[in-house]
Amino acid sequence: MIITQQKPLEEILKMLEPFSKVFIIGCGTCSTVCQTGGEEQVEQMAETLKKEGKEVTGSVVVEAPCDARLLRRDTRKMKKAIEESEALLCMTCGAGVQDIVQHLKKISVPALNTKFLGQIERIGEFYERCRACGECILYETGGICPIVRCPKGMMNGPCGGMFEGKCEVGGYQRDCAWVLIYNRLKELGMLDLYKSYKPPRDNSQLNIQPREIVLVKTRR
Ligand code: SF4
Ligand code: SF4
Repeated sequence: MIITQQKPLEEILKMLEPFSKVFIIGCGTCSTVCQTGGEEQVEQMAETLKKEGKEVTGSVVVEAPCDARLLRRDTRKMKKAIEESEALLCMTCGAGVQDIVQHLKKISVPALNTKFLGQIERIGEFYERCRACGECILYETGGICPIVRCPKGMMNGPCGGMFEGKCEVGGYQRDCAWVLIYNRLKELGMLDLYKSYKPPRDNSQLNIQPREIVLVKTRR
């Protein structure tokens, strides 16, 4: 899940300053779960903008605004209200905002900050768990990602900064990722994987941005 956080209202209003008519787009998937762009938050935002003197021409919560097909489907019926607006306020992740601009061709203002790819423990409790490195090694590490959970991204650990199972980074508050990995592999009876040397990663492909996977090229 993509974890988002709403930007401070002052920042949103600053970006919306030049526009008096606004259409709001929420996200029915990740932003709904994060409570940053679901039905309730979109409604609240509409009320807030109205109090700030804006005209809200309409709003919609798209099932997944980062999917062009769903974006087109869910905004079709709102075409008039979208056209009437001067700007779209996107309560979506950055991928959603970019899809919205590309397909609706209107000035789009991001209402959220996209934070990370995360795991949801419960509503309001989100933890970064994957950095989309492109070469998943979770099998070798008992399902615990050292790239994310070790602040140094150690591929073989723990480092010398571990003390009583805790990580020196941040003052021994958090568990050392490599102690977690050791314990998990032990629990699973797979300690041989812990002992195997993990070579440095080839991050050269990561530096080629933007990354793409195109299995079937469609005509545009
Ligand atoms: S190794 Fe970590 S960062 Fe890479 S894909 Fe797997 S979980 Fe994500
Ligand atoms: S103590 Fe553990 S988690 Fe912290 S930097 Fe060293 S190996 Fe990584």
